[in-house]
Amino acid sequence: MAKLDNSFSELAGSSKLCVLASSQRVAYGGMLIALVMVALCALVLYQSRRDATQYTTVNLRNIALIAERDIERNFDIYELSLQTIVERLRQPQIMALPPDLRRMILFDHLATKKSLGTILVVDRLGHIVIDSDDTVPPETNLAGQKYFLAQHDNPHTGFYISDPYPSPLRNGTPSIALSRRISGPDGTFGGVVVLVISLEYFRKLFGVLSLGPRGSVSLIGRDGVMIMRQPYDARIIGQNIKEARTFRRFISDPEGHFSETASIDGVRRLYWFKNFPDLPLIIMVAAAESDVYAAWRMRALTIGSLMFVFSAAFVALSFNLGAQLRRRTRAESELRLLARTDKLTGLNNRRTLDEVLGKEWSEAKRSGTVFSLLFVDLDRFKTYNDTYGHQAGDDALAAAARGIVQSIRRPQDSAARYGGEEFVVLLPDTSASGARVVAERIRAAINALDIKHACSEHGRLTASIGVASWTPGRDDDVTVVISAADAALYSAKADGRNRVAAFHEAQA
Ligand code: GH3
Ligand code: MG
Ligand code: MG
Repeated sequence: MAKLDNSFSELAGSSKLCVLASSQRVAYGGMLIALVMVALCALVLYQSRRDATQYTTVNLRNIALIAERDIERNFDIYELSLQTIVERLRQPQIMALPPDLRRMILFDHLATKKSLGTILVVDRLGHIVIDSDDTVPPETNLAGQKYFLAQHDNPHTGFYISDPYPSPLRNGTPSIALSRRISGPDGTFGGVVVLVISLEYFRKLFGVLSLGPRGSVSLIGRDGVMIMRQPYDARIIGQNIKEARTFRRFISDPEGHFSETASIDGVRRLYWFKNFPDLPLIIMVAAAESDVYAAWRMRALTIGSLMFVFSAAFVALSFNLGAQLRRRTRAESELRLLARTDKLTGLNNRRTLDEVLGKEWSEAKRSGTVFSLLFVDLDRFKTYNDTYGHQAGDDALAAAARGIVQSIRRPQDSAARYGGEEFVVLLPDTSASGARVVAERIRAAINALDIKHACSEHGRLTASIGVASWTPGRDDDVTVVISAADAALYSAKADGRNRVAAFHEAQA
């Protein structure tokens, strides 16, 4: 029986480990699944943010290209017009014409381009000689203007584009001037032809571009002077931004994109910039990141929170399921254990004894090994009960069971409570002499408990043990060995109790 007790505690221990492992698998498996789901969700959101960036960049580039083409085409027209006028001015016949006629011939190709701006022919001293808008030119002297000086000081200036300035001829309207030099036949300075354009043209052009609530578009001179910016702020026009981080990036490449915080308003934007190939200008189109990612952020927030809630719920459910599984399996194993053991002594019960006995008996038959069985019966136990009470009897039974358990050591040995104060110990593959040694050990262990039993001839609680060893034949039934052990027990009782008796063939 002691043996049985051992094997049961092992069984219980290993099943506990299994339960723990499987419940942990459920809990951590759930956590892993939740983590994978969160990671996938994060990946999808990250990808959709990148898509938003990419989509915006392409959009910005297209807008920049359209604006650049428009401006470039107009500047081509301006340049060509100034060129044409310079050439016509060289023809003496034209210069000899009356002023009205001369104006018509000089500016005829601009008749439909009135919105272009004002064209002035300025002599070498800065006086306006011809005005495209008026027969009588204003008397303003332009010799101090940059667009005049640039041509005056350098015969190779060519097509000159000024910084924005408040035009004195247009009541201070912010304008830019484009000039070309008039050279005499010997190359001497003969004055300039100037086209003054209102910045309104750029403002209108930029105004139709759709760049979101905080987007911006700028036309900047390559020297860093802001020519036009949408959203429009008169204070920004003409400002030099060459020290700004963004501007340094504009001039680092012919075109490109980047993300940066604008020095003008502190808004972080996605930029697309392009340097004009033939003009000293840069076009920059930008969309605020807060606009670009507004929809994405909303989506990310909704999906992210839902994902977080679902994942947390999933993990909680997994842990709950794991805990339930653990509780259920533990209860099942406890029930199994209870069904197999005797409550009072913790040894195998009669049912388990029958199972184990049948199994070991078959094994001994199969392997042809000797099988030993001990029948242990407490001596004078009825009087012990009568003398010391039923509870003391129970305690003594439990103590005797412990003595039995401690006396059997091999893993295949087992002990069971047969009934009342009787126990059976199974010793598979154990010879008669070996079984006798174990029986003697059990007897001595119970004797050594030193439980007082005044009504016993030995003065203490003792046990008699019958030993039977059998090498089962093919037709032998397990009852033969039980009967043999019982017979041996009977003889131990008859011989004075507190002793071990082995079965002899003669008893059969
Ligand atoms: P013997 O030396 O010949 O074996 O005499 P005995 O009194 O031990 O034998 P008997 O079979 O007459 O008595 C067995 C007694 O064991 C009967 C009962 O009082 C007691 N007993 C059986 N089961 C239990 C139990 O679970 N608890 C207690 N306290 N006593 C039990
Ligand atoms: Mg008995
Ligand atoms: Mg007895």
